[in-house]
Amino acid sequence: MILSKLKTSLDSPVSYVLGKDTDAFLLNDLLGKKIKLSWTGIIECVKCQKHTKKSFGEGFCFTCFQSAPEASPCILRPELCRAHLGEGRDLVYETTHHLQPHIVYLALTDVVKVGVTRKTQVPTRWIDQGAAAAIILAETQNRYQAGMLEVAMKELYTDKTNWRKMLLNTTGEEVDLSEEKWQAHDQMPSDLANFWVENDDITHINYPVLIYPELVNSLTFDSQPNIEGVLTGIRGQYLYLDEKNVLNIRRHSGYEIAFNA
Ligand SMILES: [Zn+2]
Ligand SMILES: [Zn+2]
Repeated sequence: MILSKLKTSLDSPVSYVLGKDTDAFLLNDLLGKKIKLSWTGIIECVKCQKHTKKSFGEGFCFTCFQSAPEASPCILRPELCRAHLGEGRDLVYETTHHLQPHIVYLALTDVVKVGVTRKTQVPTRWIDQGAAAAIILAETQNRYQAGMLEVAMKELYTDKTNWRKMLLNTTGEEVDLSEEKWQAHDQMPSDLANFWVENDDITHINYPVLIYPELVNSLTFDSQPNIEGVLTGIRGQYLYLDEKNVLNIRRHSGYEIAFNA
């Protein structure tokens, strides 16, 4: 199969599916069992399907990384989005994906972080980040507005996740996200206040992890084509093998692998 990001459903715990169609595996059923992922050496660009020696971003060949709308700078930095001005790498893509309602949120990953996502990506985006909990701060009409709000919030909160700490589950459960939300409100620029969402519902997310390790060791197919071990957990887009070895599936989008369970 060609790897793509794990598909998730917000069950308790989260359900994870690897692969698709007839080649799909519900990973929750494989917890506690030995699995093996063997890379064939092939990487297929997730955009143009051409083989590439190296992948850029999350599974792009170099050409697509530089030209595909899915890899444009406003994906990582929403404040750079120009869709509202009728500009961008691909106007159809920008209109469909970025001239749409967006959410600014606080998520509890290893710390409280601020983030932006398209409204339809809630709660998928939170699960992909491995958040233990999340709360919506604001809803905007487009990606640019959400980006500007995020920039304002960056004085209070990071927009990065320390994935190692997230995987060790060092999150302080005592954090009250609704309290954080109203502190954030006081700091918000007044021109962006219209987008604030009053609803204080917190989404809690449980991951299928049998036992959290004390330290993690990150594996990649580039340094180790055959990866195997007992599947001891899944969080964010990571598999835990033999507790401490972790494999980021999303990072290997486009890699062709044989999967054995
Ligand atoms: Zn390509
Ligand atoms: Zn954009």
